[in-house]
Amino acid sequence: MKKWIFGIVLCLLLGSGIAQKYPNIVSEISLRDTGEAPKVTTTPERIDHALKAVKVTSDQIYKGNLLLVNKDIPIQEWDSESNVIHLSQNEELFDGFGLMDDTIQLSPNLLQKFSTMIEAAEKDGVNHFIINSGYRDMESQHELYQQLGPEVAMPAGHSEHNLGLSIDIGSALAKMDQAPEGKWLKDNAWKYGFILRYPEDKTEVTGTMYEPWHYRYVGLPHSAIMQENNFVLEEYLNFLKEKMIVTTTIDQQNYEISYYSVSRNTSILVPRNGHYEISGNNVDGVIVTVHGEGNE
Ligand SMILES: [Zn+2]
Repeated sequence: MKKWIFGIVLCLLLGSGIAQKYPNIVSEISLRDTGEAPKVTTTPERIDHALKAVKVTSDQIYKGNLLLVNKDIPIQEWDSESNVIHLSQNEELFDGFGLMDDTIQLSPNLLQKFSTMIEAAEKDGVNHFIINSGYRDMESQHELYQQLGPEVAMPAGHSEHNLGLSIDIGSALAKMDQAPEGKWLKDNAWKYGFILRYPEDKTEVTGTMYEPWHYRYVGLPHSAIMQENNFVLEEYLNFLKEKMIVTTTIDQQNYEISYYSVSRNTSILVPRNGHYEISGNNVDGVIVTVHGEGNE
């Protein structure tokens, strides 16, 4: 998935003085305010594609990488057949980080995203990562909640670990808010589609205490826009809903991100041949991310 992004990022990392190049990576974010439902048309800023209409069904609100799950909003469609693996039994599949214990589970997809990020950190000499927690099923979330209580744990169905899109990442050297691993992730995770989900200055928005270890996968270009604007997921989804269309350029690749409210018969316009992804927001709509030229 999007190997080209990781390829470009890796090439830049290898060929440059590393981090200095990145502050400018999200150099163009243009916003278009519209009072009506977005229509994908051709303007200089917009992506020019032959379009087709596709139907969006309401179950798509509850699937994808941008689902919002928090204290107030539980998982709506629990996937009991979640595709996860026990990492301790599959050590041949990964390298470069440790496991807190033998219960850690991740989906192969998230493992791949995480591994790509960790490889990049290693090239920067940061290499003492530990996974403390990955996917949790309903039962283990419930046990955790019983053990730790509401100050520290979420009830079953309200944790991002139940979604399978989050990882608690530790360091073998120090606590994450002091460790080089924590510092590196804070500065770089967004390049690999991850975000620090519960920052110290956003506890009132997230309703969750500062967790320097909890990283959530949302994917590019979303993680880049969130980093650029200092948005947590709650704020980013509100922002998309308000703007309805956001375009951004990352590494000379254009993205157009549109929010659609979904009712029973919602149709959206997507590129006939180009790349696009649809993710629900877990509340009332979907976000369609269209990739511009050069995205293969
Ligand atoms: Zn966590």
